[in-house]
Amino acid sequence: MKTTRNIVIAVDGHSSCGKSTVAKEIAKAIGIAYIDTGAMYRAVTLAALRQGLVAPSGPDEAAIAALLPSIVITFDFDKALGRNTTYLNGENVEDEIRAMPVSQSVSAVSAIPAVRLKLTEWQRQMGERQSVIMDGRDIGTAVFPNADLKIFMTARPEVRAQRRFDEMVAKGQQPVFDDVLANVVERDRQDSTRALNPLRKADDAVELDNSDISRQEQYDFILNLLAQRGLIEK
Ligand code: C5P
Repeated sequence: MKTTRNIVIAVDGHSSCGKSTVAKEIAKAIGIAYIDTGAMYRAVTLAALRQGLVAPSGPDEAAIAALLPSIVITFDFDKALGRNTTYLNGENVEDEIRAMPVSQSVSAVSAIPAVRLKLTEWQRQMGERQSVIMDGRDIGTAVFPNADLKIFMTARPEVRAQRRFDEMVAKGQQPVFDDVLANVVERDRQDSTRALNPLRKADDAVELDNSDISRQEQYDFILNLLAQRGLIEK
């Protein structure tokens, strides 16, 4: 399968509903790049945490804005592990950005306007050069409002927390289920209520609740949409 032209697919939605899993599968099937914008917000958050810029009362907005020019985020595909790897200034931070300290601060750091503006700019540059499927919270509403296909994914909070919990256990972490559930719910709250580019379904996005459908079904659903719109061909 291949795309009929350069295309942009936006996958937005609630925390831990499997956006990246399906986006990676679609990217592989149709031969386009996958970009995990959440990993970019997580990497910035990790950089801020390491500099001591995230107090319990909230992040130091001005200091984090000043840190941005020194941050370089890159991605690579780890063939041995069969997964994408995120690098912060050349250091592999893939595991650290998925652990609880970053998960607990990322929504507050992501609400900082300077952070959003900078990452939005990087994301647009990535999508201008090539066909992409990008997952995040504001791709269809702010980063690529003219995306060729917009999907808004969601699932029940307990289902999402269980998936994130299983993922963390598989990585050797020892999460507490109630903490993971509380984090998923709290991130959704913060992401949907922030002032700049909050999480919301774009008017022209197709909603996909995957609480009770299989991975194969949601994959087929998206491929069908792409075919119906003439964006891919066999
Ligand atoms: O996708 P993931 O759950 O890894 O994203 C982590 C956090 O990054 C989200 O909870 C949200 O606060 C922030 N984010 C965002 N905009 C995006 C992608 C992620 O604000 N486009």
